[in-house]
Amino acid sequence: MTRRTLIAGNWKMNGSVAALGFFDAVAPVAKEADADILICPPATLLAQAASACTGSEMRVGGQDCHAAVSGAHTGDVSAAMLREAGASHVILGHSERRADHGESDALVRAKAEAALQAGLVPVICVGESREEREAGRAIEVVASQLAASLPENPDRMTLVIAYEPVWAIGTGLTASVEDVAAMHEAIRERLPEPLTTCILYGGSVKPGNAKDLLSLDDVDGALVGGASLKSTDFSAIIEAAGRKSELVR
Ligand code: PEP
Repeated sequence: MTRRTLIAGNWKMNGSVAALGFFDAVAPVAKEADADILICPPATLLAQAASACTGSEMRVGGQDCHAAVSGAHTGDVSAAMLREAGASHVILGHSERRADHGESDALVRAKAEAALQAGLVPVICVGESREEREAGRAIEVVASQLAASLPENPDRMTLVIAYEPVWAIGTGLTASVEDVAAMHEAIRERLPEPLTTCILYGGSVKPGNAKDLLSLDDVDGALVGGASLKSTDFSAIIEAAGRKSELVR
């Protein structure tokens, strides 16, 4: 089985009903793309975003879920609720959640298992801080996050990994292609299903750097924050992944 490129947008706590015209704007580019396209809007917009995707090549995902199926967890949403709202994927362990909500690797693993149970594909985020990279510990840190965050039920390992160096998220800084290539190779070596698991790069991916990053062997797509809020920028990143019509048949 070959891996298909995935271009995923993370709207974070941005967007509104008025922003849903984004889907009509991106649909023609998504139709031609040699990639799967995913948008993760805030939970409040998920059902409407899913409707806006109907008949297009795009899918929608959540930005987080609770590890429990239901219960007294005010403000949280379960994986099954995301699924019912139309999600196919859920981002888990994003560095902003690890920092803002103190999420541990163990919690990310529990959420990933809940997502799989609900039929969602978990997009598990890992990445080192600037201090960890400068100390030469980037691969060690990411390897330990992976070991502790991946779900334990290997018979259902449909998942996506997103390598997002924390210092590159929302800063305009991007890891060098050499560092991204080395990290993605190191991640792949540590995956239970190395040949079929998609590994995305995230961290200030923009129209101007997308092609260089996406052309790396072990980079199977991108997780895009800021540049996924503008349909023109996101479309340009999708185009950097190539068109179906460019495929050799
Ligand atoms: C992200 O939020 O996952 C992200 C990579 O953000 P940005 O592209 O803005 O750096």
